[in-house]
Amino acid sequence: MLNLFDTQSGALKPVQAEDGKQLRFYCCGPTVYAAAHIGNFRTFVIQDVFRRVVELGGLRTKHVRNITDVDDKTIRNSQAQGVPLAEYTAQWTEKFHADCKALNCLPPHVEPGAVHHIAEQIDIVQRLMDTGHAYRSEDGSVYFRISSYPEYGRLAHLDRQTLDLGKTAATRADVDEYDKDSVADFVLWKARRPEDGPNFWPSPWGEGRPGWHLECSAMSHKYLGDTFDLHSGGVDLIFPHHENEIAQSRCACGGESARHWFHITHLLVDGAKMSKSLGNLYTLDQLQGMGHSPAALRYILAGAYYRRPLNFTLAGLKDAASALNKLGRFDKALAKVSGAKEPSYRELVKQRPALGIFEPAWASLEDDLNTPEALGHVFSAIKGIKPESLSAEEATELRRAFRVITEALGLQLPDPDADIEVPEDIRALADKRWAARCAKDWASADALRAELAQLGWGMKDGRDGYSLTKL
Ligand code: AMP
Ligand code: ZN
Repeated sequence: MLNLFDTQSGALKPVQAEDGKQLRFYCCGPTVYAAAHIGNFRTFVIQDVFRRVVELGGLRTKHVRNITDVDDKTIRNSQAQGVPLAEYTAQWTEKFHADCKALNCLPPHVEPGAVHHIAEQIDIVQRLMDTGHAYRSEDGSVYFRISSYPEYGRLAHLDRQTLDLGKTAATRADVDEYDKDSVADFVLWKARRPEDGPNFWPSPWGEGRPGWHLECSAMSHKYLGDTFDLHSGGVDLIFPHHENEIAQSRCACGGESARHWFHITHLLVDGAKMSKSLGNLYTLDQLQGMGHSPAALRYILAGAYYRRPLNFTLAGLKDAASALNKLGRFDKALAKVSGAKEPSYRELVKQRPALGIFEPAWASLEDDLNTPEALGHVFSAIKGIKPESLSAEEATELRRAFRVITEALGLQLPDPDADIEVPEDIRALADKRWAARCAKDWASADALRAELAQLGWGMKDGRDGYSLTKL
């Protein structure tokens, strides 16, 4: 069973589904106002590793991840560019999906957009007004009264002094983001302002729009209920976002909110925080433009322990690519001896094979997702193995066990033969076979595959094309 650090209790805790079958969890999704950077992807990739370890460990999951498409930043940028909010956020949502796919992240089961849940957000504010946890200010905005919720500050471990400061000063925060020194009543509903342009909705308190923190309470409540198994985000979300979310959810809906809080430490670039002004903010596109592969980035992001800062360097990407090549060569060598078809993630989840020599790697994954330790075990395990000396059955079994670990990490193993030169006549035969396959002419496709095999070439079919390997 996976043991994972829980921010609220400050200790390792087993990850458990309340119903024993399906782990229901919520991840704060991207703010779609620009391309997500590699720091954001550290968080999303680690959440993906988490989900894979849970699923390979035998639990089904319900993974909900929202899209933040109505907040200070999306509105500011779309207004500045004179593009309607929906159109502006749609393009960045699409980009986000493409990057997630390139980084081999499983898509969440539910991906709700905040802008489609205005009614649900208003409902939460209404409940908070009805129970005295919220109040309307002179300008028509609505605030959460933090003094009405004695447990405020538990998640972020705020001390009494900080909290008292917030209360006695009776300050209010009307921006979405602020830090611990500015503990304050926070905004639930923002009164309409001219700079928001057409982005306002009617409410019982006047026209306006929801504050950022509200959306995750509304959507987690709608899709997962009052109490659910786990909630995750980067460490920057502990305060104020998640603290505020707990306060809103518990006061409006009852229940426990999330039973386990999983936060991922930030990625730094060359030891410094990423920022536009330092010029060290990377996106996947930029790295690809420099010739690096998404697979190498995935290796780095998945392979660093999530509770330590990850210091990203471009040199690290080169090392990652060569480590991946080593794993790819091992996999290929096993595949040749085994002859069995490549085990897919879904098949491995359905029936997890015995792990044998990869048992220690799995144990590291279950020990607070210690991915670097797991990779260390994998490399030591494969060191002394000569795939050519194994029987086909042994190779098949070993490959399935190996792939449990690489699939848990979501690694995209390169094909060591991918760069080989393919002679013209082989290419022509392969094209012919692909055309036959597309035309569902299975007899010709099979005959051509056999002909290719006779000439020493294997053909692997993908969804959008094929690849050739030397047999
Ligand atoms: P955002 O799009 O800003 O709402 O952030 C999406 C996710 O990325 C959130 O879970 C953030 O906590 C996380 N995040 C932001 N910056 C970093 C970083 N440098 N390293 C790791 N995660 C980050
Ligand atoms: Zn959130």
